[in-house]
Amino acid sequence: MKPVFRFAPSPNGRLHLGHAYSALLNADFAQRFGGRFLLRIEDIDLTRCRPEFEAAIYDDLTWLGLNWEKPVRRQSEHFDDYRAAFAKLRERGVVYRCFCSRKDIAEAIACREAETGRPWPRDPDGAALYPGTCKALEPEKAERLALAGRPHTWRIDMTAALALAPGPHVFTRFDRAGGEEACHADPSRWGDTVIIRKDVPTSYHLSVVVDDALQGITHVVRGKDLEAATDLHILLQALLGLPTPRYHHHDLVRDLSGDKLAKSRRSESLLELRAQGIGAAELRRRLGFSFHPSPST
Ligand code: GLU
Repeated sequence: MKPVFRFAPSPNGRLHLGHAYSALLNADFAQRFGGRFLLRIEDIDLTRCRPEFEAAIYDDLTWLGLNWEKPVRRQSEHFDDYRAAFAKLRERGVVYRCFCSRKDIAEAIACREAETGRPWPRDPDGAALYPGTCKALEPEKAERLALAGRPHTWRIDMTAALALAPGPHVFTRFDRAGGEEACHADPSRWGDTVIIRKDVPTSYHLSVVVDDALQGITHVVRGKDLEAATDLHILLQALLGLPTPRYHHHDLVRDLSGDKLAKSRRSESLLELRAQGIGAAELRRRLGFSFHPSPST
């Protein structure tokens, strides 16, 4: 079976150097491993994602010399797939409705912090763990509020989820030299995180797990900024009975300084770099790829 890689940008702005690195690394891996390279448009955020950014993604990636399989999967066309996966989670009793506003949550946390005198724990993204305020709501009352049209999210009940899928939550990391190592995921550090947002019938975590499975992704290559999210994805895969791909999380790249990569707060868009006259071959070389684009298919 051929390995399958994917690059999965969100069309909510122009691609920057970090995206270029991630896309090239995926394509480079696919070439080394004799695999396939897919592109997925992660546009569940219907207010921030725009068609002109999607068009710019195709333009920038083509300029970089990349080819990907068509048709491209666009998440906004597959809400039914996410609904079906969510129904499974509901059936398994590992999600609950949450009617709390940000203010309610902040107040509950401030209260607990005052009681204990200790800072409230945070998830790997730095957000305070959900204090469980709505979990105490009786299911009938929650149903009534929902029927009355009260906006709500759905959160994973981490305790129930871990009781159903206690693990060990093991996955495989791979590197560019072909090395592999087994790793343990710790989903509990995410707490009762949001699985269905208020504004769209899915979330990043749910859609990515569903799509990776539906597209037969065997190797996920993405930035270290998403490394901790993998812990949650492994749990969702276990709960949904989906296969777990292998993972590689690369260092983040933000700008080019001379021949060296350096981290900075400002990320240069490919558009800006192209306007400065940098060529695609030069950019690939500076990012460390001896990668030769395959001919157009
Ligand atoms: N859409 C995500 C992003 O643009 C990447 C998702 C992933 O690779 O899992 O950051």
